[in-house]
Amino acid sequence: MLILAIMLAVLVAARLLGWPAWRGWAGVAALWLAAVAALVLAPGSGVAHLVGGDARVWVLGGGVVALLLGYRLLLRQLHRRAVPVPEAPQPSAQSGPLSDPELDRYARHIVLRELGGPGQAALRRARVLVVGAGGLGAPVCLYLAAAGVGRITVADDDHVGLSNLQRQVIFRSADDGRPKAEAARDAMLALNPHVEVAALNRRITDADAALIAEHDLVLDGTDSFAARRAVNAACVAAGVPLVAGAIAQWEGQVTIWDPRHGAPCMTCIFPEAPAPGLAPACAEAGVVGPLPGVIGSLMALEAIKLIARTGEPLRGRMLIFDGLYGENRLMKISRRADCPTCGSGHFRAG
Ligand SMILES: [Zn+2]
Repeated sequence: MLILAIMLAVLVAARLLGWPAWRGWAGVAALWLAAVAALVLAPGSGVAHLVGGDARVWVLGGGVVALLLGYRLLLRQLHRRAVPVPEAPQPSAQSGPLSDPELDRYARHIVLRELGGPGQAALRRARVLVVGAGGLGAPVCLYLAAAGVGRITVADDDHVGLSNLQRQVIFRSADDGRPKAEAARDAMLALNPHVEVAALNRRITDADAALIAEHDLVLDGTDSFAARRAVNAACVAAGVPLVAGAIAQWEGQVTIWDPRHGAPCMTCIFPEAPAPGLAPACAEAGVVGPLPGVIGSLMALEAIKLIARTGEPLRGRMLIFDGLYGENRLMKISRRADCPTCGSGHFRAG
């Protein structure tokens, strides 16, 4: 029995010392060999007496243990060959459970019954295109990035000028002269390093349906009718909803163009460009600084509702805000069957 105890001690010691398993078993094998040798070669000696038992039992026992060890080794080899070690998956920042810093950052969203963890996860999965990084684009970009919208593309072909800083609060004085898309991207990443932002230093045209189709949602804050019409046509072609905001002087409006879900597109409501002079741009007519903040924030709010599938988005309704008199109006708007952009023959509502 003493020799069995020593064998066990060798195995335990090998384990504690962190040796590879074969070293411990080699020690045990050496002890076993010595024990068998003593029993066979010098059966009457003191060593044989110390070992005790029958040589045949020792040989048989050794054989059984060797077989078991061999079997285990074989299984391990087969397993290694059958299950190749998978390459560690590249963790994407926008998949998997929310990290502790993210849970902390979005805590006020997560406690909202209408958003919660699933809503926040949907925001992180979302891909959103922001057209125009101007007055409306500024709050849109900041609030979408702050809300944790996972992938944001911002497109603008303009450069930051001093006259923008009165309302385009995403920029700093030091950004004067920089491409707006790049300055907006830097501001978003500085606000929230968990989101991915791509900057496009160009306009979005009606040829951009493929780019738009890579996104779940588009927000348009451009300030010319031609640019809006082009974005609308590309969104209808791609079947992507478009959150649209517009501002002039003291008044703004916001709605969701989404013919795929029964709401009109922009051409349904505004089939013709306004007469020259009737809808002057901000540069000519002026705009009060906080107004794009109000309308752009409403656009970001609508985007969050659409992405999280909560509340009643402004589909088929246009909210009109009059800042000078502190009044809100809500207008019902409908699709036109003969709309040249989304009407029958061009598009079928799904
Ligand atoms: Zn239409």
